[in-house]
Amino acid sequence: MSQTRQKLSTVVPCYNEEECIDELYQRLTAVSAQAAGDDYEIVFVNDGSRDRTWDRVAEFAAKDSRVVGIDLSRNHGPQLALTAGLQICRGERIFIIDADLQDPPELLIQMMEIMDRGVDVVYGQRATRAGETWIKRTMAAMFYRVLRGLTDIEIPLDTGDFRLMNRRALDVLLSMPEQHRFVRGMVSWIGLTQQPLVYDRSERFAGVTKYPFRKMLNFAADAITGFSIRPLRLASHIGVGLGFFGLFLLGYTLYSWLFLKTVEGWASLMTVVVIIGSVQMFVLGLMGEYLGRVYMETKRRPLFVIREIVSARHAGGTVASAGESDQPTP
Ligand code: UDP
Ligand code: MG
Repeated sequence: MSQTRQKLSTVVPCYNEEECIDELYQRLTAVSAQAAGDDYEIVFVNDGSRDRTWDRVAEFAAKDSRVVGIDLSRNHGPQLALTAGLQICRGERIFIIDADLQDPPELLIQMMEIMDRGVDVVYGQRATRAGETWIKRTMAAMFYRVLRGLTDIEIPLDTGDFRLMNRRALDVLLSMPEQHRFVRGMVSWIGLTQQPLVYDRSERFAGVTKYPFRKMLNFAADAITGFSIRPLRLASHIGVGLGFFGLFLLGYTLYSWLFLKTVEGWASLMTVVVIIGSVQMFVLGLMGEYLGRVYMETKRRPLFVIREIVSARHAGGTVASAGESDQPTP
């Protein structure tokens, strides 16, 4: 695809965000104009919303040639929606932000300044998180720390996908073909020069989180299995531990048999059976997590399917057919 580069692209995954999107559009337009004059685009990716999000995006695109709307064929989840936007966008610098205005778009200006000093990725790092339940905050804090303990690459604590990256970093990101995408981790993996911008995270502008507990667990599993095979080794560690315990038990059993003449021991036997049984099931489940992901990857399906793209700039508002532009091209 030959395309003219723009100075700045903003990519926003949107799922049922009709209450936020007007305000978002206004604030993004203002800050983009300040940062890049006329030379920017805002890419809204509609991730199968059931409300009027897509109608609003189409309206923006109709009156503003800087807006690009991408309508996915169904809900693909935020990481793939984001990937779709990243693949279509044409900016030299790419600003990623959630639709709910938890991360202030105005920080773009500071991020641009940091990038001017030769930084490839400027990621937002949350000092505080307002308006989120303590369960979510505690889970998030635990998650980032466990992840850090398990992975070999440095994934910074308390960051989301809110960040500014340059074309060089984005091209590397787009060359990674994996299906289970934990974008912030993948960006850390790239390396180059990355710097945090510490900020206070606000409440959602409107609506409720689109990330219920179940999705969070899936996301966490993707992150951990995507970046570490250490859990697979857990089986052998547990095995070694239980082996020593077994030796101890063997000694105890022999001793009892020789000197105590007991035939009891039902309780201890049951305990051992239950412990070993549950450990086995746990480790089997762990194998399943990885095996399932290997299986999904081998299918090599497109990452997402686009129903339609609306934009004045992208080839005069073409309609991309479903299935087009799917795999990232290295
Ligand atoms: N989102 C999406 N698809 C989904 C769920 C969420 O594109 O299936 C978008 C959502 O519209 C928002 C971003 O991903 O722009 C982050 O979602 P949310 O704010 O609900 O997550 P939280 O901030 O609560 O973790
Ligand atoms: Mg949010």
